[in-house]
Amino acid sequence: MSAQTYEFQTETARLLELMIHSLYSNRDVFLRELVSNASDALDKRRFASVTEKSLQAEGELHIQLAVDKEARTLSISDNGIGMSREEVVANIGTIAKSGTKEFAELLKSKEKLDERPDLIGQFGVGFYSSFLVADKVTMVTRKAGESTASAWESTGEGSYAISDAERVEAGTTITLHLKKVDKDDGLQDYTDPWVVEALIRKYSDFVSYPIRMQKEQLATEENAEPTFADETLNSQKAIWTRPAADVSDEDYNEFYKHVSHDWVDPLDRVTTSMEGTFEAKALLFIPKKAPFDLYHRDMSKRGVQLYVKRVFIMDDCEELLPSYLRFVRGVVDSEDLPLNVSREVLQQNRQVRAIQKHLVKKIVDALLNLRKNRWDDYQIFWREFGPAVKEGLLMGPERNDKLLDLVVAESTKDVGLRSLADYLADMPEGREQIYYLSGTSIEAMRKSPHLEAFKKKGIEVLLFTDAVDEIWLQQNLKFQDKSFVSANRGELDIQDESSEEDKAKEDARSGELSGLLLAIRTKLQDEIKEVRLSKRLTDSAACLITDKGDMSPQMEQIMRASGQAMPPTKRILELNGEHPLIKAMEARFTANPSDPSLDSFSQLLHGQALLAEGGQLSNPAAFAEQLAELMVLAARPN
Ligand code: ADP
Repeated sequence: MSAQTYEFQTETARLLELMIHSLYSNRDVFLRELVSNASDALDKRRFASVTEKSLQAEGELHIQLAVDKEARTLSISDNGIGMSREEVVANIGTIAKSGTKEFAELLKSKEKLDERPDLIGQFGVGFYSSFLVADKVTMVTRKAGESTASAWESTGEGSYAISDAERVEAGTTITLHLKKVDKDDGLQDYTDPWVVEALIRKYSDFVSYPIRMQKEQLATEENAEPTFADETLNSQKAIWTRPAADVSDEDYNEFYKHVSHDWVDPLDRVTTSMEGTFEAKALLFIPKKAPFDLYHRDMSKRGVQLYVKRVFIMDDCEELLPSYLRFVRGVVDSEDLPLNVSREVLQQNRQVRAIQKHLVKKIVDALLNLRKNRWDDYQIFWREFGPAVKEGLLMGPERNDKLLDLVVAESTKDVGLRSLADYLADMPEGREQIYYLSGTSIEAMRKSPHLEAFKKKGIEVLLFTDAVDEIWLQQNLKFQDKSFVSANRGELDIQDESSEEDKAKEDARSGELSGLLLAIRTKLQDEIKEVRLSKRLTDSAACLITDKGDMSPQMEQIMRASGQAMPPTKRILELNGEHPLIKAMEARFTANPSDPSLDSFSQLLHGQALLAEGGQLSNPAAFAEQLAELMVLAARPN
């Protein structure tokens, strides 16, 4: 196939433009990105050649750097897996495979990007960082097992060209035609071997393949011609095998960026080793920011890497962590698994299960520690990953107590996020229940009529807004023997807080109003399953309650959004017997049980209860019409 020119995707072109115009204060990171890609390609080749001997490289797997001062180029070569022409088009011409829409949105807003350049790292744009330092980039690549190679070339300005090429061996060479050195603009001389070596030591020392470069050797005799020889620049020490005391935070953070392709430091790290029947070491990280695809399950990539005796086996090894911890990044290195272990084997393996159990415990403990000792960081963590952690509450009882200990939420106390432990600590002796309300907006919930009695009695209610809350809160879980009770579901039992006298008054009122309640129920029977007197209301006239065991409106919405046909669940209308409106209706009803105005009053009462909780009217036009009629009556001059 001959040379072809392609346009970059629109987002890509915009990204390049932004990057080139110094999005990053630190241009040096391009080398870390290219070395990481090369190292990934070597991992893939090593793994592929375990099962397919013909894919084995002739020489040792390594990364070769070369500088040319005259031509002002720096090249990074690997004898890794390489790419076919189609793969070049797919991988290098397109970016943000996983979050294209969000990414396009992000790129539209230059301000947002300037504020948070780290967001870019989440889209896997590593290769493009070449253009931070180069005004032209060429790549020659040949896929292992294929005989032809392809050359890619671009100035990063809208298009790139691909043509057929020659390459003696499988692998990839990327050549950067460097921009002019400009110290003020963060551009160093990347043709200076010392500069390159320093960067490799700083960012890529732990890469497990040798990174070599030709370096001038010290002359043994005076006036001798300079001689050159390859030197290995990195120590290749697997960072997780070194005693933690010998590794600096900086080294750990660079390693995190290498494995996660993130651009910012992690929030926390967990180092652990298993000894005994099975031996394994793990170095895990909790990122600061969730990738955009964390909550699109099938798109999420890159979990924990699996190594066996320091040899890379696979990326994104789902078997090592339960899916609710899919945001954790890092490495697990097993001493006992076979080198040719397959996904199928991993799924059944007893050892893998033991490792998983151990890691879950360590991660949950670390998070608990974060919650107790680094509260500001924990809040960052919870905002990003809380919904994922709560998915863990749906996966069986094994860890529930500990996971519940991680749960934090807003509450009616309005003092920021509260843990369940905080809630219990402030709970009066003798109360057995943790009250909560779940909905879509904290602000709307704070004003919800459902909370009136709680506020009056000074009972704290936790406020939940994530979709997953609707589900786990229905699982009858207990935290330290206390159960969770919804403030807008079922019969409310806050009697223990109300006096005997109050109770007798409520019962008497219920008797007086029974005729009206029944009449309203008959009028609303298409929407409502029951009308009763409320123990929750003090100011509002009415509110809607989901019956015990019924599906909540939010849950119905989740189900509908996932494509399931859902008949609407009828709810319970609770009325405030002391409210002037109910008293006025009572008077009308006593005077004439078939007073026609009771009809529209009932409809409006139902409608406004729905609106007050942030719900949607099934027939807004009819509601508006009835309201207008009433307003006409009210506005008439006496
Ligand atoms: P990321 O590495 O975050 O996926 P990049 O833009 O750096 O994003 O690379 C895109 C893809 O191009 C990689 O996922 C890989 O498939 C391919 N690639 C990049 N560099 C190499 C290389 N040296 N050898 C083989 N494939 C490569």
